Amino acid sequence: MLRRIIDSPWFYFSLAGVLLVLMVVLQFDRVASEASEGSAHDLRTMADRDHVNVVFIVIDTLRADRVHAWGYARETSPHIDALAQRGVRFANVEAQSSWTKASMASLWTGMYPQRTGVLSFSHAIPPEALLPAEIFQEAGYRTAGIWRNGWVANNFGFDQGFDLYYRPSKNRPVKQVRRHNPSAHPLQGTDLDATESALEFIVGVGDDPFLLYIHYMDVHQYLYASTSPEYGSSFSDIYDSAIHWTDRNIGSVVDGLRNRGLLDDTMIVIATDHGEAFFEHGREGHARDLYREVQHVPLIIAPPFTLRPGLVVEERVANVDIWPTILDLIGLPPLADAQGRSLVPLMLAAGGIGEVPGDLRGRPLFAQIDRSWGRQGVDSNPMISVVRDDYRMLHQTLRPMQSELYDHSVDPNEQANLASTRDEVEKSLQAEIDALLLMSPEWGAAPEIEIDAMHRAQLRALGYSLPATERKNRQKKRNKAAVERRAAAASHAEEP
Ligand SMILES: [Zn+2]
Repeated sequence: MLRRIIDSPWFYFSLAGVLLVLMVVLQFDRVASEASEGSAHDLRTMADRDHVNVVFIVIDTLRADRVHAWGYARETSPHIDALAQRGVRFANVEAQSSWTKASMASLWTGMYPQRTGVLSFSHAIPPEALLPAEIFQEAGYRTAGIWRNGWVANNFGFDQGFDLYYRPSKNRPVKQVRRHNPSAHPLQGTDLDATESALEFIVGVGDDPFLLYIHYMDVHQYLYASTSPEYGSSFSDIYDSAIHWTDRNIGSVVDGLRNRGLLDDTMIVIATDHGEAFFEHGREGHARDLYREVQHVPLIIAPPFTLRPGLVVEERVANVDIWPTILDLIGLPPLADAQGRSLVPLMLAAGGIGEVPGDLRGRPLFAQIDRSWGRQGVDSNPMISVVRDDYRMLHQTLRPMQSELYDHSVDPNEQANLASTRDEVEKSLQAEIDALLLMSPEWGAAPEIEIDAMHRAQLRALGYSLPATERKNRQKKRNKAAVERRAAAASHAEEP
């Protein structure tokens, strides 16, 4: 009898039916709702909660002054603006590089590029590094990373701590604009792929606590939704249209959280790895220098409640502060070796609780790029930026006499180089840079990985040119075990 039942297809249909009903019941036990109202005091007590989910959204290549909430005249960003209006907006944030990989390695580890050592195209974050997703995983969170920029791929070590780390690429772009290299391979898919994967995760995760990282890419690719761009046809206009499109994707993710009744349990963070130049200093694009147009980035932390009104932190902060802040807010263990600081005291002060601590005021904040990051067999050519109070100093170690100095109080766009006119300021900022350069990488030299043909094609699709001689001159692997581990992880990750 039992055997007859087990052999019958109806048994399996019924079983599937019961499971489906169960899933639906579990799915809709929460009702769609907005985040309930809270106050700055609730920022302080968030760490006492059972758990707070985190949705961490990186919009690649988004400069702050193109976001409406940062004062841009065009309404490029209604959904981002809505998060700023009910959360905490950081008005002055400094990225740690203008190149994705160096910047993201610093963002995740809370360490400056000089300390991560991740500065060149073949460098990876080593397994010894502690990344925030590992802390979440350890604390029992489900962790997913959905990304579209090859510089944060698994084999560069960014997958550490993620249960699921992959690049979706199903949708076809309606219209694509590539500026630098029209013959480059197009990057597959659109930001809609990331959004759809994120929504699937939000539904599938059930009631488990989660960390969800979404890395959007269409602003970088100048890719917009409609058949014609909304704001005009110059690159700068198309860039704005791309922001508007990615903003709609963010709206969909927030809708997905709302529909599952998760806004009361979920902190949403919006960040960027760097900005984009439109000839302010003779160049277009990014990953070449460290002027304000590529360095000033947006940051919003929207807590799992509605602040009315939203708060604004005017103090200058940095992307290395992001994870020390999030971990502090939700009461998870810190990144022990981070150079970034928790910004919670600044958030509280913006809400009228306490003063801004002296050591969070006027800190020197650094950024760095090896200007020969993409060329193999060429000496490194570091450029370092330090921002402190009203000043930015730019220093190139190969051309120490050509430092630049800008005074943001009278020249926010960094057009008038004041080098050699402010002796005291220059000496003091140069001392900060010299001290930074004395630091050695936290884990020794960053491991270098081989970039295979497929991966190279994907990176080229981002508009970056990689060394032509790379195939012939493959570098010796410094850390064979790490490379093999990452290769296994990467091939696994290609499956979805
Ligand atoms: Zn980037």
